[in-house]
Amino acid sequence: MGGTFDPIHYGHLVTAEEALVQFNLDGVVFMPTGAPARKTHQVVTSAEHRYLMTVIATASNPDFTVSRLEVDRPGITYTVDTVLALRDAHGPEAELFFITGADAVLDIVTWKDSERLVDACTFIAATRPGHDLAAFDSLPIPAGLRVERMEVPALAISSTDIRSRMASRRPVRYLLPEAVASYARKNRLYGKGD
Ligand code: ATP
Ligand code: MG
Repeated sequence: MGGTFDPIHYGHLVTAEEALVQFNLDGVVFMPTGAPARKTHQVVTSAEHRYLMTVIATASNPDFTVSRLEVDRPGITYTVDTVLALRDAHGPEAELFFITGADAVLDIVTWKDSERLVDACTFIAATRPGHDLAAFDSLPIPAGLRVERMEVPALAISSTDIRSRMASRRPVRYLLPEAVASYARKNRLYGKGD
């Protein structure tokens, strides 16, 4: 599951757990982006902090792990490079799924070299409040690109909203793991802190 995870929240964790069960996966690898290709216009928290928050959030779940692949790769991150690297690492027998929210799937067609992803993995597109998968049916998806839809319990949680809440000291309890919120406050990631 790829994401900026700035910070990771229960929307991400619920989506990963749902994919694990619905698609009978052996595990979910969380892949915090290095320098995300589609967020170059934004200030993004350092990769190391985002990686550590993802580790904290997933620590108690034996089916969840976190990869440093993108965090350690210099330059801008392209999903296609990551998927092909995972394909190489796990060999042709492994069945790979790339879990994303429906909004991210809508971007698939604009990804660099998205036709190279045909046969590399199956996309799992999670429905998320405000992102209608109907729009997605009319897109010119490269032939052979496999995209499965997945219903997740609707959670209108976003990292953007959490960052803004933390910056203005509004509550974030129950939106993300308490330990992640504590880590963010301790390191003053989203505001001045106390
Ligand atoms: P931001 O607001 O900074 O864009 P975000 O909450 O969208 O952050 P990302 O790290 O961009 O989080 O998301 C990683 C992946 O998780 C994306 O594919 C996104 O669609 C999906 N996702 C994010 N929030 C939810 C949610 N509440 N429910 C389901 N999927 C989600
Ligand atoms: Mg997002």
